[in-house]
Amino acid sequence: MRILVSNDDGYLAPGLAALADAMRALGEVTVVAPEQNSSGASNSLTLSRPLTISQAQNGFTFINGTPSDCVHIALTGLLEQMPDLIVSGINNGQNMGDDTIYSGTVAAAMEGYLFGVPAIAFSLLDRGFEHVDAAAEIARELVERYIERPISSPFLLNVNIPNLPRAQIKGIIGTRLGKRHPSEPVIRMINPRGDPIYWIGAAGAAREGGPGTDFHATASGYVSVTPLQIDLTHNGQLPAVSEWLAARAT
Ligand code: MN
Repeated sequence: MRILVSNDDGYLAPGLAALADAMRALGEVTVVAPEQNSSGASNSLTLSRPLTISQAQNGFTFINGTPSDCVHIALTGLLEQMPDLIVSGINNGQNMGDDTIYSGTVAAAMEGYLFGVPAIAFSLLDRGFEHVDAAAEIARELVERYIERPISSPFLLNVNIPNLPRAQIKGIIGTRLGKRHPSEPVIRMINPRGDPIYWIGAAGAAREGGPGTDFHATASGYVSVTPLQIDLTHNGQLPAVSEWLAARAT
């Protein structure tokens, strides 16, 4: 089994090394990750400048681009054969509910899924990688399960792992994305030249986090696995919009 590993925290992040190590027990691993922390990069591709590919001493390949750049270049120019699976992470912090839209971790996996490769994004709930070993064990268990019982069609899974020792994790369950409150206000500061500068505020608290959601599962001590799709069409709203477009003032 050929496994491509990437992330959005950059090629030096402890979560990437932990995930790559966990995957080595299961197949032939290639790591292609961003040079810099690209959290929040979403699905952006770098189109305004060329990209450089470098080798780290530990064998990881890093690119001065986004997570999507890394997987895109790996699939279209670096790898001799398409991987059987793409895994991304383990992210330094959760990617649940509306975070999923902004996440570079999810985007790296999604880039693979767009090329028809099954892909899994892994995130550890709290920042700081306290229980990254347990999270890596969960990642290995999930991929092992996939190898033993493959899902027939390509899939994109968003996995969020509580920051707990392995023994305290209660299980692994399927969830839907919850929703968040709007993010906290922007932080305004003054730079040394007296100009105003702004920091994007923190993500909002969970707004829809009831049973069945990723928020609820992880708060209850379970690993949350949400299958994602890319089609953004709001099929339920299509008839109303079509009707609105067809209507003429009389
Ligand atoms: Mn990140």
